[in-house]
Amino acid sequence: MTKHVFVTGGVVSSLGKGLTAASLALLLKQRGYRVRMQKLDPYLNVDPGTMSPFQHGEVYVTADGAETDLDLGHYERFTGIPCSRESNYTTGRIYSSVIAREREGHYLGKTVQVIPHVTDEIKQAIRSLDGDGVDIAITEIGGTAGDIESLPFLEAIRQFRQDVGRRNALFIHITLVPYIKAAGELKTKPSQQSVGILRTIGIIPDILICRCERPLAREHKEKLALFCNVDEELVIEERDVAHSIYEVPLELAAQDVDVYMLEKLGMHVSTLDLADWKRMVQTLVDPPGGKVEIAVVGKYIRLRDAYKSIYEALTHGGVANGVGIEIRMVESEDVEKRGAAPLLDGVDGVLVPGGFGDRGIAGKIAAVRHARENGLPFFGICLGMQCAVIEFARGVCGMQGADSREFRPDTPFPVIDLMEEQKKVRNLGGTMRLGACRCRIAPDTRAAAAYGALETTERHRHRYEFNNVFRGKMAAAGMVFSGLWPEGDLVEIVELRDHPWFVACQFHPEFQSTPLQAHPLFREFVKAAAKKAARLPERSGPSDVSDESDASDSQDRQRAR
Ligand code: GLN
Repeated sequence: MTKHVFVTGGVVSSLGKGLTAASLALLLKQRGYRVRMQKLDPYLNVDPGTMSPFQHGEVYVTADGAETDLDLGHYERFTGIPCSRESNYTTGRIYSSVIAREREGHYLGKTVQVIPHVTDEIKQAIRSLDGDGVDIAITEIGGTAGDIESLPFLEAIRQFRQDVGRRNALFIHITLVPYIKAAGELKTKPSQQSVGILRTIGIIPDILICRCERPLAREHKEKLALFCNVDEELVIEERDVAHSIYEVPLELAAQDVDVYMLEKLGMHVSTLDLADWKRMVQTLVDPPGGKVEIAVVGKYIRLRDAYKSIYEALTHGGVANGVGIEIRMVESEDVEKRGAAPLLDGVDGVLVPGGFGDRGIAGKIAAVRHARENGLPFFGICLGMQCAVIEFARGVCGMQGADSREFRPDTPFPVIDLMEEQKKVRNLGGTMRLGACRCRIAPDTRAAAAYGALETTERHRHRYEFNNVFRGKMAAAGMVFSGLWPEGDLVEIVELRDHPWFVACQFHPEFQSTPLQAHPLFREFVKAAAKKAARLPERSGPSDVSDESDASDSQDRQRAR
């Protein structure tokens, strides 16, 4: 039988609930348990796919093609456990199915109400994690205790525990213990009040995880234990980590949170293996090969969460190469105003990420041109690939006015065009080309060298694609089409031969990168940037970038500094 852990948040949002939940999942997994994860989001959108990244950050895409909350990215990166459509439910999605069933007459003439019909639907969503071989399911409730929108979810988890019993479900509340500078003190009152709110709903947390800037003293723990009705040893401190989010599991493990969880759930406490994780964190904290600076040129730069998975995947690429990554966040509209050269001066590589709409496109194209003409390692992702294709068409193939039909429907050279099956699409939600698709890789290319294989599977989220009408002409001019979707002959990866490293892909490799296993394209992009940073001799040709001389590379880099 699957046991359930529910993670709620108190006092304020942005406490890193997702990270904490993911860290707990990692610890349980490293004790040999099979874990699944889920996020319940209280907003009314059916999924976050139609929301601007400025709202809740990036939209994370699962292998089965669901557009989901970015916390699922943490779940997958920390645990390596795949998420699916079942891993993210919103109020909108819950209500949609309740209303659809009401229209079908499913409720047999009853009045349809929040309790029990909506809460039943939520409980069913939670139970969708149960199944063969799943030992523990962790469900994170979005929002903050006290939000009107969260109420049905909190009521549902209260009922759930009632249904399955105390030994089979656990409540963890993540809360804030702020440091008040003027008083020079940590304050426990907000957390007491937050637990008070939960209590009025009938939920008493078993474990309290306290986010704080400064260490909790004994007296704080005693006070929180007393007022919140939690055992003192189950008041856990989660202080801001010094270097990296990947330190969080180590901090929690040091306080045996996972041991307490297993004990409360009546499960055997087996040994914890964090050896690989610790090694990875060590490399992150003190990279032997020095620093590499990568420019990310996008239009959602002012919100860090908008490119979350990209930044993480770059960090993973750094770990794989033993270098630290510094990210220079460049607003594409600034490139339009000031030119690429001053804004990209001194960087070791340029990445243009995905996006929608024409704002900032000219700046992205200018950044691509700068990277192509100056031999700067370049990595384009989704819209970034489309920009690379447009730039190559204009700058190398002489197709003046080449564009994507997304930005200029009457372009004389629509090198990027709407996919055939997208032409009839009217609804925006969930209708892009989404999720995992196969990609066949051409031998003797940078892509083949990176993957070390001639076939892979990558996740997608786009409506437009490379227009095959122009493939011959662009290939003749030197663009290599190194990845294709075998089922439909769609272009998946393009690259340039006469350049130290210029690769762009239509899919989103950042969704499959983890700190223990960097995505091959991120790993090789960072390696090329590290070579540039160390001013190692640049050699062209795909076989050169595949040599596995990581150790000597990083020594060379250190010497070069
Ligand atoms: N806007 C482009 C498209 O729809 C690219 C999408 C993306 O970068 N995710 O094809």
